[in-house]
Amino acid sequence: MIIKHASQLLVVSDQSLGIIEDGAVVIEKGRVAWVGRTQDLQESGNQGIEDSRVSSNPGTLEPSAPVIDATGCVVMPGFVDCHTHLVFGGYRDDEFEQRLQGRTYKEIAEAGGGILATVSRTRQATEDELHTAGTARLQEMLEWGTTTCEVKSGYGLDTETELKMLRVIRRLAADSAQTVVPTFLGAHSVPPGVSKPDYIRQLTEEMIPRVAQEGLARFCDVFCENFVFNAVESRQILEAGRRHGLEPKIHADEIEPSGGAETAARVGAVSAEHLLVPSEAGLRAMKERGVVAVLLPGTSLFLRTQAKAPVAKMRELGLTMALGSDFNPGSCTVLAMPIVVSLACLFYGMTIEEAIIGATRNAAKALRLDDVGSIAPGMAADLLILDVPNYRHIAYRLGHNPVRQVIKAGRVIHTRSRA
Ligand SMILES: [Zn+2]
Repeated sequence: MIIKHASQLLVVSDQSLGIIEDGAVVIEKGRVAWVGRTQDLQESGNQGIEDSRVSSNPGTLEPSAPVIDATGCVVMPGFVDCHTHLVFGGYRDDEFEQRLQGRTYKEIAEAGGGILATVSRTRQATEDELHTAGTARLQEMLEWGTTTCEVKSGYGLDTETELKMLRVIRRLAADSAQTVVPTFLGAHSVPPGVSKPDYIRQLTEEMIPRVAQEGLARFCDVFCENFVFNAVESRQILEAGRRHGLEPKIHADEIEPSGGAETAARVGAVSAEHLLVPSEAGLRAMKERGVVAVLLPGTSLFLRTQAKAPVAKMRELGLTMALGSDFNPGSCTVLAMPIVVSLACLFYGMTIEEAIIGATRNAAKALRLDDVGSIAPGMAADLLILDVPNYRHIAYRLGHNPVRQVIKAGRVIHTRSRA
């Protein structure tokens, strides 16, 4: 496949979008084989396609190779959504309305709502029901350009339901068009009727070994807050995960400073997420250990939080900043990454360039994936064709879905119906 005449081709490197005007991409066997200017593609001679992977020429294309003319469009890597809770039973629209009427999240939780409401509906749901709902959500994400998606468990809070959720995530990974990365988040909350020490024992001695043994998760995550799992407890859980081969991730310093960023550095987490109120020492420690900062501005909008992730400080320290949707039924129903990019700019003060890199290349880093999130020879050919003339429109046209076509591993898997 060849894509040519992109008004802007965003190849996305660590530091910049790497814009190529009138760009072209050659795809071979599901991977990017060549990237450059359309003019150079047309001027090239009859060199073999094999050479093109290592040299700078696009080689000879099969006469039958499909060609996509991207005139007037931006072409960029598929979005990587590195933080979602998309498998759950039932929405919580009733609580949303109550919050609008002035009830606090805490009051709702104390009345049996919040995470625990979703836990009881997720426990009741069958695997098929969860799978059907998850499939529909993944399809919606695909239409907004997400080609790789992390999905967490965490609405079971007992061994049986946590494993059920992870099996659903495995099924979604097998039969959805996207790459789906599973994370075990049994430490999302303490279930009712169980003491915290007992639950931590269950997590570390029963659930984590089972999850690892059945190969159901890549990462182990924990909701680190003083009133959920404090820094010491979080470390204990994450170290148990690591002993079983699950790399640590952590929900850190979202609601109050709880030493989450410090804990992320101490356990060598892949990423620390939310980070609305981290300490500066914690951010410095994260930088030293190479922990990715995952920012979730959709949740700030949805919960109307005053605190904003300290992007200027993170930038100054040179932290790697990634973006995720945090899609879930309670604190964020935004699943569209172009909207997340806008919100990162409007609420957190990221530049448009930082936000797009955060939603692609850096989000891939937060999932330890090295072949998605940018466009270069050898990378997976996960690409988007957007109906906008330049990258600024992605953030600027808030609420507009710019995705015209989605290409996954070199195949067109979605074409928008409207022209
Ligand atoms: Zn989360």
